[in-house]
Amino acid sequence: MRIAENIQNIKAALPPEVTLVAVSKTKPVSDLMEAYAAGQRIFGENKIQEMTEKWEQLPKDIEWHMIGHVQSNKVKYMAPYVALIHGVDSLKLLQEINKQAAKNNRVIDCLLQIHIAEEETKFGLDASELEAILNAASFHSLQNIKVIGLMGMATFTEDNAQIQKEFQFLKSLFDQYQSVQWPNFQLQTLSMGMSGDYQLAIDCGSTMVRIGSSIFGVRNYS
Ligand SMILES: *Cc1c(COP(=O)(O)O)cnc(C)c1O
Repeated sequence: MRIAENIQNIKAALPPEVTLVAVSKTKPVSDLMEAYAAGQRIFGENKIQEMTEKWEQLPKDIEWHMIGHVQSNKVKYMAPYVALIHGVDSLKLLQEINKQAAKNNRVIDCLLQIHIAEEETKFGLDASELEAILNAASFHSLQNIKVIGLMGMATFTEDNAQIQKEFQFLKSLFDQYQSVQWPNFQLQTLSMGMSGDYQLAIDCGSTMVRIGSSIFGVRNYS
């Protein structure tokens, strides 16, 4: 009941154009089923093995989003079913996703992850690396991937002005590249905002929020 209530409350407060990804990493299948019963159909996971186990057990109309850092050698396990990969941060990874998507006769939607936080540990491209990917001839030969947006994670801080600045930077980059229209690159999704900062992210132009603990409760990693 608690999970269903959380989802209803969050959804009621989201603008209609903002998509909710329920981040279910570390949570048991029974929790995901509770969210499913409440109408949630998009789930986000950060480990390919865990996501695949859940995909096998749960209803097939669920959209699975990979939100974590992706290792190239594991792409093959999710290629048959993954709906959106948020954390793509290299041309090499795009090439591997393209190869595995082709084997499955699919086009896999991807977001390019942009480094917007101050922390060194967060993955992602900077603006010049993004440009370099788009300028690479080999990018344009990738027919089994489609870059449909950008993703970013703000600094973990109480300083809202700092977070806002980072989200605004990502939104400006998104706006700048929206005029670029190639067969495999058409930006429409801006994935930013988590439990602690999604209101601010929406104010800054987010179209997709990734919310875990505000739905499922705090995670236990033990
Ligand atoms: C875990 C995670 C989230 C959700 O975090 P909460 O603070 O629990 O909402 C969102 N995005 C990414 C990339 C994550 O790894």
